[in-house]
Amino acid sequence: MWKRRRELEARTAVEKRLFERGRRLRENAALIFPNTYFAGMSYLGFQQILKTLNEDIGLDTRRYFFEHESDPIAMEDFKHLSDFSILLISVPYENDFGNIPALLRNAGIEPDKRKRKKEPLIIIGGPALTINPHPLRNVADIFIFGDGEEKLERIFSEPERIRDDAYLEALSGIKGIKTVPGPNENIGLLETCYNERDRIPRSGIISERTFFGNMFLIEIGKGCSQRCKFCTASRIYPQVIHRDSDELNAIIETGAEQTKRIGLISPCVLDHPGIIDILRYGAEHGLEMSTSSLFLEKIESEIVDLLERNGNKSITVAVESLSEKARFFCGKTVPDRVILERADMILRSSVKILKVYLILGLPHEEDGPEEQKRLWDGLADISYSRGGEIHFSVNALVPKRYTPFAGLGFPGKEKIRRSYADFKKRFKGMKVKFEPVNDMLDQYYYSRTMEDILEKV
Ligand code: SF4
Repeated sequence: MWKRRRELEARTAVEKRLFERGRRLRENAALIFPNTYFAGMSYLGFQQILKTLNEDIGLDTRRYFFEHESDPIAMEDFKHLSDFSILLISVPYENDFGNIPALLRNAGIEPDKRKRKKEPLIIIGGPALTINPHPLRNVADIFIFGDGEEKLERIFSEPERIRDDAYLEALSGIKGIKTVPGPNENIGLLETCYNERDRIPRSGIISERTFFGNMFLIEIGKGCSQRCKFCTASRIYPQVIHRDSDELNAIIETGAEQTKRIGLISPCVLDHPGIIDILRYGAEHGLEMSTSSLFLEKIESEIVDLLERNGNKSITVAVESLSEKARFFCGKTVPDRVILERADMILRSSVKILKVYLILGLPHEEDGPEEQKRLWDGLADISYSRGGEIHFSVNALVPKRYTPFAGLGFPGKEKIRRSYADFKKRFKGMKVKFEPVNDMLDQYYYSRTMEDILEKV
């Protein structure tokens, strides 16, 4: 217990908190991330919900991260998880589904809602949950699909009734909230909806112990114009929203008072009409502004120049396949010629690392083996002649529910391992990291299964 307390204290000691604790409602609540502090605090959705609960709803909400420790105590006041009256769980990734019953049992909390009788009340939301909530239908008292802020405000609008069956049933009529799914009812993505009044998610706590290290994150847009056939993000948010530049500038200024490191989050950063001005602001104010992965075909020399001036040493792009036909088929519109041109333009600058995401198992990936080899040789030549590096990150295609690729089969463990080995052989000399096969299996299973998780784990 003392060891765990000291770990948690060491974390809070290096955090900068940018919002006030909630003091209006009398319930005590914990927001749970079913994985590590590092993963949870690096996820902007978790931070946004934490801030909404405390600041907008007035609910004093602590954080709990599941790190398989024997002492399930929350950050901030070390309260045991079983002492909270409301638990909210954020699930962005399918890989964490299995941790949910485990963390509840570890704290002595009954995971089955039919036996738990709302003590504590459990509310679950997040992108992976929105795609497929079915495994957790007997765990959650309340599901939230899509944006969470306004739905949480609605749920807590009558806090004294939050455990009444009639109240919960009425909530279930609101789009994006489900409390009493019928036995065979198909729930999830179809009920998703956006906030009516758009809010701009931004960091509520800045910490060096996150993936981005002391960075203030701000979501400049959501939804994606490319709508790749394997992508769930563009199904959850089918319309593209670019946030208002004036509002963004004001938030960035506040963030810059706390840290020089600003992260611009959006599936399509370079489609934002004000992106040049935002990056220029960063460069002129001595900030280190970086972005989520970019569309390679939209990276012009002015963008590279601004990213350099913002101190970026690497740029990340998702090219998806070395086969041009596979790329076009899945929705990416960047031809081989443009990949080579842009890679050369980037590595000619002081940005010396290009990170490239690829997917194995896309339809047509076998097409044009010579062209693929030529593309890889071209990229290898560019990185050598420009003194840069190209790092590939490779995973297998996971055909998820609601995507146009949902009907494709999943190859299974052995076949994925073989495809990783073949890929390594074909593209000798490539710096490549393969995503763990078990993660892919979990993603496939939990994004589609209708089975009750309580019968599995
Ligand atoms: S570019 Fe990325 S976010 Fe956009 S649709 Fe494709 S995979 Fe999804």
